[in-house]
Amino acid sequence: MVDTQIISRGVEDKRVIDAMLQVQRHLFIEEALREQAYNDYPLPIGEGQTISQPYIVALMTEALELKGNEKVLEIGTGSGYQTALLSLLAEKVCSIERVPVLAARARKVLDDLHCSNVVIKIGDGTYGCSEEAPFDSIIVTAASPDIPEVYIEQMAGCSNMVIPVGGEYEQTLIKVSKMNGDIKKEVMGGCRFVKLIGKHGWSAERNGQLN
Ligand code: SAM
Repeated sequence: MVDTQIISRGVEDKRVIDAMLQVQRHLFIEEALREQAYNDYPLPIGEGQTISQPYIVALMTEALELKGNEKVLEIGTGSGYQTALLSLLAEKVCSIERVPVLAARARKVLDDLHCSNVVIKIGDGTYGCSEEAPFDSIIVTAASPDIPEVYIEQMAGCSNMVIPVGGEYEQTLIKVSKMNGDIKKEVMGGCRFVKLIGKHGWSAERNGQLN
């Protein structure tokens, strides 16, 4: 998977590549789907949610430019796969998941893998996490209609954020960089994520379909 789907498509950060070699994706996927674990597409994880495509996970993780001493906020724990990668690449990870059963499942796998620098919170991640802010990096793994201002506010003085922004069925991956308070936005490409549901995202009533 790492050779054919990640490196061959341009991901270069050695720390990200090593982390992807180390974390076994099949551990985050239900038994019946495990033989597909190393294919380059999202898979269902229950509750209408998905574990993201490995290439997109690598691309977003690389964009955070993690060196190892960062405090990272992840919105959308899902299976916990992305969280496990962040756990290897940063000092501390605060991950928020709105679906309690997914948070509990992810916690179990992350505990089995001894990811002791991860805090998982259950709730609406569109508020960010003011009690732990500011963050050196923020990664949002569900699609938002626009960039919630609260995330910009919770970014540290020099920091990066990656977030899918757009409509219900397709979005654009945006990298937001803060440098001494100045904000720069960079388009990384097209993507398709499940919806970020909450106060500053999509409303729960419109969450009818799996995307
Ligand atoms: N990164 C995850 C992984 O590796 O498995 C995949 C995340 S999945 C594409 C998006 C997740 O965001 C879902 O688990 C969904 O429940 C969660 N989510 C959606 N809206 C949220 C919100 N407001 N706060 C926290 N989590 C949210």
